Amino acid sequence: MAGSSAAALSLENVARRFPSKARGSALFTAVEALSFEVRSGEFVALVGPSGCGKSTILNLVAGLDRPSEGVVHVSGEPVRGPNTHVGFMLQKDLLLPWRSIRRNVEFGLEARPIGRGERTARVERELRRCRLTELADRYPHQLSGGQRQRAALARTLAIEPDLVLLDEPFSALDAQTKLLLHRSFARTIVASGVTTLLITHDLSEAVTMADRILVMSERPGRIVEEIEVGLPHRDDPIARASLPRARELMAHLFHSLHLDDRVDA
Ligand code: ADP
Ligand code: MG
Repeated sequence: MAGSSAAALSLENVARRFPSKARGSALFTAVEALSFEVRSGEFVALVGPSGCGKSTILNLVAGLDRPSEGVVHVSGEPVRGPNTHVGFMLQKDLLLPWRSIRRNVEFGLEARPIGRGERTARVERELRRCRLTELADRYPHQLSGGQRQRAALARTLAIEPDLVLLDEPFSALDAQTKLLLHRSFARTIVASGVTTLLITHDLSEAVTMADRILVMSERPGRIVEEIEVGLPHRDDPIARASLPRARELMAHLFHSLHLDDRVDA
């Protein structure tokens, strides 16, 4: 019996190796010896340097890829392929340009056995939660980058996933939009109560948004540290950012990732 019942997500001794480009050489290990859990309702951030295997993990959890070793459970069930338990969103919003925002939010529900009334209710609820009701009849090109990411989140939440995976969803935005979107996402996530795994290389984002942070090493990615954030203002990252403990945690993470003794990128 793998994975405790309270865990929305568990990885046990997971590795993912890819064939090397050079013929006959050893396999290329993207991640290995990865074990961690995310409890139901928890917001966990996974941070690590570029190329350490963060997106590889997202693909394994979303069922878009299979581990070479180990096992991934979502909601107590082994992940065998893409499934309705997991919703994910990426840096690129993937909104369909020919559909209105409302019809984009509805998109994921169309293949589900959900009646019309229920479908409409869910769409309107998520539009409201993401503060998009007034923009619902617009098309993606008529929205700002931040508004589009809110629409992508609304679409992800409309399927009522047990777990939401966010792969660097703020990284293409300018600094100010990013801060406002952190707050917007935090409020929506707290209001929905959904379990969240945020993948990011942005340390302050991790500290101001998450309940717990898992720090990964450089490739092959492993978890090298776990931090309980323990800060108030779960729904207000901007308020969190100014707390002394938040600053301490950021400095600590900076040190953990050896960013303080590096000169060049
Ligand atoms: P991150 O998201 O942390 O930046 P990735 O998970 O995208 O890192 O990639 C981790 C490593 O695995 C990188 O070196 C990448 O080139 C390699 N990798 C990812 N996917 C594949 C694949 N399908 N085939 C071969 N190598 C891959
Ligand atoms: Mg990535």
